[in-house]
Amino acid sequence: MTTNELDSPVETEAKPARAARRPAGERKPVNRVLVMPQTLSVKQLAELIDQTPIDVIKQLMRHGIMAGVNQIVDYQVASLVTTAAGIRTKLADETKAAAPAKAAAPADTANLVTRPPVVTVMGHVDHGKTTLLDTIRKTKVASREVGGITQHIGAYQVEYLGKKITFLDTPGHEAFTAIRSRGAKCTDIAVLVVAANDGIMPQTVEAINHAKAAGVPIIVAINKMDLPDANPDRVKLQLSEHNLVIEEWGGEVIAVPVSARSGEGIDTLLQNIQVVSEVADLKADPTKPASGVIIEAKLDRKRGPTSTVLVQSGTLRVGDHIVAGTAWGRVKAIANERGQAIKEVAPGDPAEVLGFSELPEAGDVLTVVPNERASRLLVAERERSKTAQQTQARALTLDEVVKQIDAGDVKELNLVLKADVQGSVEAIRQSLDKLADAEATVRILHAGSGAVTELDVLLASASSGIIIAFNVGSEPSAERTASRAGVEIRKYNIIYQLIEDVERALHGMLEPIYTDVLTGRAEVREVFPGRGNAKIAGCRVLEGRLVRGATVRIMRGGKVMQESSITGLRHFRDEVTQINTGLECGVALQDFNDFQVGDLLEVHRQERAR
Ligand code: GDP
Repeated sequence: MTTNELDSPVETEAKPARAARRPAGERKPVNRVLVMPQTLSVKQLAELIDQTPIDVIKQLMRHGIMAGVNQIVDYQVASLVTTAAGIRTKLADETKAAAPAKAAAPADTANLVTRPPVVTVMGHVDHGKTTLLDTIRKTKVASREVGGITQHIGAYQVEYLGKKITFLDTPGHEAFTAIRSRGAKCTDIAVLVVAANDGIMPQTVEAINHAKAAGVPIIVAINKMDLPDANPDRVKLQLSEHNLVIEEWGGEVIAVPVSARSGEGIDTLLQNIQVVSEVADLKADPTKPASGVIIEAKLDRKRGPTSTVLVQSGTLRVGDHIVAGTAWGRVKAIANERGQAIKEVAPGDPAEVLGFSELPEAGDVLTVVPNERASRLLVAERERSKTAQQTQARALTLDEVVKQIDAGDVKELNLVLKADVQGSVEAIRQSLDKLADAEATVRILHAGSGAVTELDVLLASASSGIIIAFNVGSEPSAERTASRAGVEIRKYNIIYQLIEDVERALHGMLEPIYTDVLTGRAEVREVFPGRGNAKIAGCRVLEGRLVRGATVRIMRGGKVMQESSITGLRHFRDEVTQINTGLECGVALQDFNDFQVGDLLEVHRQERAR
């Protein structure tokens, strides 16, 4: 679509729109209603509203959405930017049908009302996330109401001091990041649970980084205060080491000592959630048709597809025509988390919705459309462009980032860093920090030791980032998700090469690069004596194939032990040149005899990436 096409349908309306927050002298977007297409690129959006792509990208970041200039965003996402700029918009298709009725409607801001905050609980395993969610649910959900027993629908709501708070009931940052990697934002506040007796642990750090990458405010719940070895001061000190300085030490982070088991401190935690929510000034317009996010979806044998929807703006009603991803339908029934039938859902509220013809996916954006024909058209259009969109919406490769930095469109290189030991993580992080200059900086979304996991890939994907793996491999599920989402995992075993590559990338001077493509993986099941001191590994090929002469990496516990090449390959007694998935074989390697049962042999091919 060209800019002219986009510009032409701009209409003028009698009512003034909210004043734009931009310096005087720039073109003021007041007094007009912009007609926007269902999808457009960040660049097109920037041109359309007369801002630079950087400003649009920054604005999206504030909403936890990391997008590149060429990324395609949909109308809902684009509206976040236009609303912040004080520009009123309409969706192109709706304009003709709804114009007369809408022209009489008051300005958007007049209809904005405060909505409940949506809270996700995150933290290290066993630090008490589930217990905290259970305690809040048991003690604070109004038990007077009929059917006071809550059901698990993926989210629940409490009313505290007359105001509602919505909790996402799937603890952990996996769900949070999975939804975010699909382009939706569903959390306003993250509650970080840290056990007072245990302190900050690896998943606490992960959770902090995930919340920071999403730009979500963090409230710390220092849990298990009832235990004799609770040491909240140590937790506060550790938090400050991760740049979370608590209020009593002059910082901005609220930390509340609690015991999820006894209920101590829970009221204070809820009060603080309300304070942070008031500061965030969360508002939505309940008069509009609803839009929201699918939190959970499952097939109920009797009732068909059921899904938990978090309504984010507008009001969802029984009878509405709905579309989420490529699932569509009409709302047949709505129930709250107590299983009671309700007629409508307001912004910020979760509810179980019946009526989809097929299962939508968690993270799909829900939209209400005027009629069944519009649902069918939208779904048909999405099905048609599914492949195209998948490639357009995927994360960026380092090469693409380089081009954007070069063009001055992007000033940050987002990285997830994984290395064999914590020492290397710190060494690499310090070297990368030094690379920042006026042109571009490195932003480390998450750094940790161990193999690259699927969660690392989701985080990189949600923030258009790249994964740097130093002396570590990646879990098979991570590789699969990375290739599906188009996330680049760059593997290095020499620090200076890693630093040099990133430095070149920052300055837009990346040399031709070669990336490793995994072509085979085998597991060592037995070790046999070979000729002389040599050892033979009895292996089973798990995926791909092993080829004689190929370069192989010996992996143990997620770390690279050594690189070697295959000098001998046998299937039973026969010497073979290659061996495929599912088959057993004997493998001899050049200068490597120290096999252990459970080692993985990974065969890679070097491929020129550009
Ligand atoms: P999650 O993995 O973070 O969801 O942790 P859980 O909620 O499952 O809690 C892990 C363990 O810690 C369970 O045995 C809980 O009973 C216990 N636990 C949770 N909160 C507290 C608390 O405030 N005090 C004490 N003493 N134990 C707690």
